[in-house]
Amino acid sequence: MNNEEINVLLIDDDIVDIRLVKALLKKVKHTRFKVEHICDVNDARLHLAADNHDVYLMDYYLGESDGLELIREARRIGKTTPIIVITGAESEEVDEQVMNAGAADYLPKEELSASLLDRTIKHALERTRYIKKLEYLANRDPLTNLANRAMFEEHLERTLAISKRRNQKFAVLLLDLDRFKEINDTLGHNIGDMLLSIVANRLTELMRKEDIIARIGGDEFTILLSQVENSESVVAICNKILTHLTKPTPINESSLFVSTSIGVAMFPDNADTPIGLMQKADLALYKAKTLGKNNFQFFSEELRTKLQYETEIEKALRLEINTPAFSMYYQPQYNLLDNRLDGFEALIRWDSTVLGKIPPEQFIPIAEKSGLILELGDWIIETVCRQLHEWNKAGYRDLNIAINMSPKQLKKPNFYTHLNEQIIKYNLVPGKLTLELTESIFIDASEHNIGFFKHLKQSGISLALDDFGTGYSALAYLKNFPLDKLKIDRSFVSGPSVGQQEEVINQAIISLAHGLNMQVIAEGVETKEQANLLMQQGCDLAQGLYFNEPLNAELATKLLQKDYGAAS
Ligand code: C2E
Ligand code: MG
Ligand code: MG
Repeated sequence: MNNEEINVLLIDDDIVDIRLVKALLKKVKHTRFKVEHICDVNDARLHLAADNHDVYLMDYYLGESDGLELIREARRIGKTTPIIVITGAESEEVDEQVMNAGAADYLPKEELSASLLDRTIKHALERTRYIKKLEYLANRDPLTNLANRAMFEEHLERTLAISKRRNQKFAVLLLDLDRFKEINDTLGHNIGDMLLSIVANRLTELMRKEDIIARIGGDEFTILLSQVENSESVVAICNKILTHLTKPTPINESSLFVSTSIGVAMFPDNADTPIGLMQKADLALYKAKTLGKNNFQFFSEELRTKLQYETEIEKALRLEINTPAFSMYYQPQYNLLDNRLDGFEALIRWDSTVLGKIPPEQFIPIAEKSGLILELGDWIIETVCRQLHEWNKAGYRDLNIAINMSPKQLKKPNFYTHLNEQIIKYNLVPGKLTLELTESIFIDASEHNIGFFKHLKQSGISLALDDFGTGYSALAYLKNFPLDKLKIDRSFVSGPSVGQQEEVINQAIISLAHGLNMQVIAEGVETKEQANLLMQQGCDLAQGLYFNEPLNAELATKLLQKDYGAAS
């Protein structure tokens, strides 16, 4: 602290005292105290907010008032300048009072000396710096140097109060990096940390100084955009963030691509409390994530209704899983060459006691998200295997059964073991079981994933690619994965928009599949014409309302008795 200059504001109305303090401070070697004085404490109070002295020295007795108010006011407006009070020697009570009000220290007037003043001022300044540093650390995320959750919440409350008063809009953006866990797990935490810092820097570059950016969790960031005109300006900012973040990130001589999903809530349109805004931004973020990442979503009432319904479905699912509310239906599949019944596709049905009938397209995605698909999936496999066993026992030995698989189900560590246990338990021929898989499973073309399907294939189980034509339809899957069947999606087969183009596409799919030694099955066949055309095009199998709707086990058995010929 040598040779520094310390600006002191002396608040005192006694000219003798003022002279004394000034003289004592002048005596201090190595430090220059620049002292200004002010006699009126109310004057000092009025100018407190804008004042920039380093330290205040204040006499306790100031005419009518006692200076306590000034200390309290300083604390109230968040002023951190230390206030040292000069008190009379006789009253310990006063000493305690000023300290309780928030003074940095007190000095009995009788004991004043150059060295005591010097030491007390410097201690007070040192302590203030230390406290400021602690506060900074408590409010910062050490990795990215952005604000942390606590500080963000404080800003949110303040912005809310100001915006209410001024009738201004503001927006809360909640960001969650896409695939961050994957990057962290595969490339290590150091790279993960580096990536977070880079994201923080990019966000800081992009935002205005008055916007608050915070990291509030592992890969979760929030941005508070104050004084926004309308939602269009927020849209523009979200687009800027998405573009800026997806620039390749050079890390250790290679390039990483990072993207983010963003949920937006607006004040006052969506909520007018900090918690309400955060919850709504969170719902919007959830929606953005489910929409396939690298996008942003605004909260809307419609979204809330939808999410509420989804929550209800999830609750009912939990409640009714493993109860008779669930059953398996079987849709017949026919061989187009000889019109023979080839087998069935097993389709789940849910007749909820709480919510009524809910189609699988609605509840399967929710079962996947919530992880309930694992339990449900096991039940589906068991039920279908038992049914096939029943039919085998009744003499229908050549039946093929297809079971729809969710990607999550296949990732379950003991998936294969469980399936194999059922095959053994029910004495099934593995080749009579087909797993229907959707394209998302094949995006992961890692050795591990390809190996998994090769293993399934080696055990004799058949694999079909469901809904072909609706997803990426990348031909690489057909080459990399050991598929036996390709299912043409129903949108290419029936429906109002099906025309010549679809015909050409179907023909191409059929030729391609046959070239790769795969069978082709068409789903959603609704008319005789569609069935005939597909047959002429060389399609092997078909299912759809033209032949039969999905049937419960009893009706499917009746159909077998009628259509499958005499049980052999
Ligand atoms: P998907 O595997 O493509 O199943 C074919 C869907 O087409 C079934 O709908 C079926 O009822 C319907 N369908 C049958 N005939 C016709 C027709 O002539 N025209 C039209 N337009 N549609 C027809 P469903 O049963 O509602 O199942 C919908 C989707 O839900 C399935 O699509 C499948 O992705 C999923 N799903 C159904 N059951 C299960 C299951 O047990 N497990 C899993 N993971 N997913 C299932
Ligand atoms: Mg299917
Ligand atoms: Mg399908």
